Amino acid sequence: MDIENHVSGVFVKAVAFASDKHRNQRRKDADASPYINHPIALANVLANEGGITDTAILCAAVLHDTIEDTQTTPFELEQVFGKAITSIVLEVTDDKSLDKATRKQKQIEHAPHISRGAKLVKLADKISNLRDILSSPPADWPADRKKAYFEWASKVVDGVRGTHPELEAVFDDLCSRHAEL
Ligand code: ZN
Repeated sequence: MDIENHVSGVFVKAVAFASDKHRNQRRKDADASPYINHPIALANVLANEGGITDTAILCAAVLHDTIEDTQTTPFELEQVFGKAITSIVLEVTDDKSLDKATRKQKQIEHAPHISRGAKLVKLADKISNLRDILSSPPADWPADRKKAYFEWASKVVDGVRGTHPELEAVFDDLCSRHAEL
């Protein structure tokens, strides 16, 4: 394997920032995996399956849940990472003052109108979540809840189609694997 000699300092900073912010959170799978596995998985999908090298997009992937799920404010994120990264994170941040059904509907409606970087982060987020549901689902999720998640995620991804055909094919493959279960 070729090791490239230009790891981005700001990317490493984003990983450190996100791991600190999410340090007490766990995923919903039976093992209660560390939450940070999820944002790191997004960046891994984008960089190593999608060939994305844009540092702002990879940093936004690692930071994508910091505003929504931790005490991080947009101001704080902008102070540390600047406007470009912060604006992508804000584009993929749900408004938690809305109820869950409304937030889910808004994701479907907004997806076509967000920036390319935000669409890529959203696509990687849905890929990572489908993988988690297939391999280590939340312990208390019955089959119909998993099915509903796949159907909703497909509607969101339909709104970003044309952004990255290879990653969209990865998403579609996960959906067909779920349909076979
Ligand atoms: Zn996420």
